[in-house]
Parts: sequence; structure tokens; C-alpha cells
Amino acid sequence: MRFRFCLAMGLLLTAAFSVHAQTSANPEKITVDLTDAPRKILHAQMTIPVAPGALTLLYAKWIPGEHMPDGPIDNLAGLFITANGQPVAWTRDDVNMYAIHLTVPDGVTQLDVKDDFLATAAASGFSAGASTSANLALLSWNELVLYPAGHKDDADILVEPSVVLPQGWQYGTALTKTGGDATHVDFGTVSLEQLIDSPLLTGRYFVEIVLAPEISPKHFLDIAADGPEDLKVSPEAVQGYSNLVRETGALYQSRHYESYHFLVTASDQVAHFGLEHHQSSDDRVSERTFIDDNLQLLSADLLPHEFTHSWNGKYRRPAGLATGNYEDPMKGNLLWVYEGLTDYLGNVLAARSRIETAAQYRDYLAQDAATLDARPGRTWRDLEDTATAAQILYLYGDGSPWDNWRRNTDYYGEGDLVWLDVDTTIRKLTNDKKSLNDFLAAFEGLGGNTAPKVVPYDFDDVVKGLSNVVAYDWGAFLRERLTSKSPHAPLGGIENGGYKLVYTDQPNDYTQAQMTASNITLAWWSIGVDVASDGRITDVLVGSAADKAKLGPGMQIIAVNGRQFSGSLLNDAIRDAKGNTNPISLIVANTGTYRVLALDYHDGVRYPHLQRVDGTPDRLDDILKPMVAR
Ligand SMILES: [Zn+2]
Repeated sequence: MRFRFCLAMGLLLTAAFSVHAQTSANPEKITVDLTDAPRKILHAQMTIPVAPGALTLLYAKWIPGEHMPDGPIDNLAGLFITANGQPVAWTRDDVNMYAIHLTVPDGVTQLDVKDDFLATAAASGFSAGASTSANLALLSWNELVLYPAGHKDDADILVEPSVVLPQGWQYGTALTKTGGDATHVDFGTVSLEQLIDSPLLTGRYFVEIVLAPEISPKHFLDIAADGPEDLKVSPEAVQGYSNLVRETGALYQSRHYESYHFLVTASDQVAHFGLEHHQSSDDRVSERTFIDDNLQLLSADLLPHEFTHSWNGKYRRPAGLATGNYEDPMKGNLLWVYEGLTDYLGNVLAARSRIETAAQYRDYLAQDAATLDARPGRTWRDLEDTATAAQILYLYGDGSPWDNWRRNTDYYGEGDLVWLDVDTTIRKLTNDKKSLNDFLAAFEGLGGNTAPKVVPYDFDDVVKGLSNVVAYDWGAFLRERLTSKSPHAPLGGIENGGYKLVYTDQPNDYTQAQMTASNITLAWWSIGVDVASDGRITDVLVGSAADKAKLGPGMQIIAVNGRQFSGSLLNDAIRDAKGNTNPISLIVANTGTYRVLALDYHDGVRYPHLQRVDGTPDRLDDILKPMVAR
């Protein structure tokens, strides 16, 4: 999963995942009618094979890739269960809200179930957030499907899915079409696990682009957008995503899917995030992403990140996240591998594929490092705890008030720094003969090309894999970084890469793109605040000049040195206060009360950059070079 501004076994257990349409005498059937998606209501009809007696039906609770129990049961409505046309009474479990109990009458072999999903959520959060507009819809099957309890592994339940689409809408999905017509589409029987792992994107304005056509299995870029103009993907962008397909083959030395679909929703009406699946990804970006350079830069790593999860996260998965069902709680303590390594690789692959330039990658990395280096919450909460606490930290979007003190899902951004540290350390120890690429080829490429399946791992497997590349005390190396309470971020990878983190009075291109796209002023590294265009403070850095001046998130700056607030006026005031002793005077509104506050800060405007250290090995530059000759 990716959410920016805007997831122990020595013995390898493998859970096979039924890819080929399995022949089953009697699978469950589900038909989802999407014709009312523009009105934010989806309808489902299911037939569920049953035997007489007590039965429990379940609704998926723990959603893979979201790492939390956020199955949207609250928006399930209109549940009617019948058998041979007669109503069947049901009661909800009074502890587990995701379980429905009933008694199947004698002689009944099939239940007919109808339900609706109220797709009315706000455009925030993950897959249960807003997913439809007048012109498009993303169907996550877990929003509607009910299934019998009692299976140890949800790969054992077979489902035959169908959809009914609005007239004239096209679609993309990793499911295999077996029949139907323009508006009713039947798909081959799959396991429940594969169904929930195979969302369907549909829309009025839709394009499907074949990527890297010379490569098998096949890769498709499917885009649904709010308007036809949003689909004008540049040839350079298509080239970049085709390069991504080629680069992953070189890096991971394997593929674990039969075909792959990037399902991209370009819409301002839906939640923005990415959610990984074995054979597809649910990638949701701003409407104009493919036609706006700033938006494109800010989401450059999204597709590489979610694609990387097909290997790192879906195929190789921490044992605590490989529960095999949707009911058992997940353990997130290895998310610094699942998400942290993916975040590192997503950004590196974006640069290797030229979805972004090496300079743009360095600008991103500078901002990431500077943000984590100004994170006082690290003095009470270590990196490992952010992973263990993932299921509660995802409740807050990145950049929530006092995030720097609570910490957020920092195993993403700090994972970048830790894995860059691992990569450059391998390179340093081996005189640049080996790298993280060698670890990945063995770890992610285990077993060569396979169908989708889950191969779990634990901490010791990661250590063993790294030790197989180069002998070193990787256990101590990682534990030190996972349990550190240092106020400062681990910047060893940047140093070993031949760079250092510096601050200047000019924003780098990534920071500038973020300020432009979000219409905010980032004064985080100077006075310690981020401010929206209306003066509203989104957050205050603990220990900063703004903190000492008693500013707080949610307050609104009305005036700067006696004049009406604007972002540029605030910037000018910070600049002008450099080198003198005059405080910056702010009039601040706070829950109906106005105060004048004095901001005592004199170090000028500061933005992060990476600066090359002459005479040192330029390993970071090497890391960003394509592996495939072009
Ligand atoms: Zn992710």
C-alpha cells in the first residue's frame, strides 16, 4: 500500500493460490450490478451452496495490503437471505460484527443472498474510501461478498463472479472473462482469495495500453478517468512504465503472476492511495496526474511501488501478515520490510525506469530524510513500534496534526533510508561487486517464475538472505536501526552513497511540486510549521521556534507583522528576520480567540537538498542506473 500526501519461518510454508479456473461442481456465485455506482450504491446477488443446519456467513474484516481490520461492514445494507423463495432469518454475532448466524432449513442446498454496498464514504482512507464517480467505479469484491465460515484457508472457497456494467463503460481486471456481452461480463471461477485480490476498474472514459509488448507474461496499463482529456498519457510516460516492466524482470529475476494490470483511477472524486494485489494494483491518483508535471512527479513512485509488492508483499510476505483468511488478526512488525523495502525499491525503480530523473529522485530523498530527521517522536517510539502499531497508525493520514510527535507509518519513508543504508553497505563491503540487487534476485526470485502464491518469511530469513550476499552482522545492523531512540534519522545510506543532506533557501523541485500541488507553505525546516493557503496551520514541529511561540495545529495565522497573511508574506518575514533579533509578530485565531504571538527565529528560510560529496564513491548514482540497456 502507498499513501503519501494524499503493508518466522526457517521452514518455508507455501500457500498455493488457485489461479487457473478450478473446476468445482458447485462454486458460490456472485453478480455485482454496478449500474448505480454513479449514485454510490452497488448491488450484489449471491448463491451460496450450503447443507442444512447451523451456518455462519462472514464478511471480510482484515483486508490484505491495508494491514488493518477495516472491512467496511458499516456500509453493508439491504441484506436479504432466502432459500427456495422463502426468507431465512439471520442474526448478527453480538461480538464479531462481521459474522451472521442462521439455520439452513432441511432439504435446502443453496441460499440466495442479496446485499448492497453504500459507496458513500469520503474521498479519504483506503479501498473503502470513495471509489465511484459519475464516470467510473472501482469494485473491491470484499465490499459485497459473504462466504461460509469454517474454512481454514480462504483459498479453499471457490467463487464464480460476474458484473453488470453501466452502458458504454469499459473495464480492466486480472480476472479472466469467460462470457457475457457488452454490459454483463462473466469471469472464470477463482478462489475467494483471488476474487478479493482482483478488483475491477470500469469507466466511461477508459484506455488500456499494453506495456513492454515483447515481454511475457503480459502487462496492461488500464486507466479510468473523470474526463477524456485525463487519458492523454504521453509517449514518454508509456515508455517509462514499459521500462519499469523490463527493469523488474532484471531486478527480481522472476514473475509471480499470469498477467499484470495496473488499474489506475485518475479522479479527484475518489480516495488517493495504492493497494497491491498479486496480478494487479489499485492505483488512485489526482484527475490530471497524466497531464500535469507536478502531479506526475509527486506520484512517480506509486506504480513502481505497487508493482514491486507483487514480489515483496504478495509473494514474499511476513509470516504475521500471511494469515490465509480475513478473520485472524495480522501482525505488522515486519512492515519495515513489506512496505519499507518496497518504498525504497519503488523510488529506485521510478528513477531506473526514467519515470523520474535521478535528480528528481534525490530531491524526493532529501525531503524524506529531512522530514524524518525532524521527527522528535522518534525519541519515545522506535521504528519497529511504528510497524507493530500499523493498524492504529493507518487511522491517521500522513501529515496529521502532531504526527512528528506521535510518528506515523514511518516504516515507509524511514524504510527508504534503512534499505539505502543496507544497499550501500553491501556495495561498500564488497568493493561494489555486489548490491541489494543480489539479495532481491534470490529473495524475491525464490522458485523462479511461479503462479501467485504466498511464501512467508521472518526476521531471520531476511538476515540469512543478506548474509548470503555478504557476511556481516546484519541482525545487529537492522536491530540497531529498528530500536533506535535517536532524535536523528539514519542517514548512513546517503553518506555511503556519496551525498550529504544540506539546507538552502530555495526549495528543491520535489518540495516545490508539493507546495504547488497542495497550495501549502512548507516552513517545516525553518520555523517548524506547514501552513495552508488560508493561514491554517496543518502541523507544528515539537521543539521548533513555532512550538516555543505556542503555535498549534488547527490555528489560523491571520496576519504577519501586522499585514494580512499569505504564504509568500510569511516566507518574506522569515527571510527578513535572518541575522537580526526582531521577532516575527503573528496574529493567530484559535477556536474563536485571537492572540498576538512573537516568533523568535533568525536562521532564514531552509529547504532540504542532497549535495554531492566530492572524492567519495558515487554509489547513489550507481544505484539509479538502469539495469537493462536502452
Ligand atoms: Zn505498499
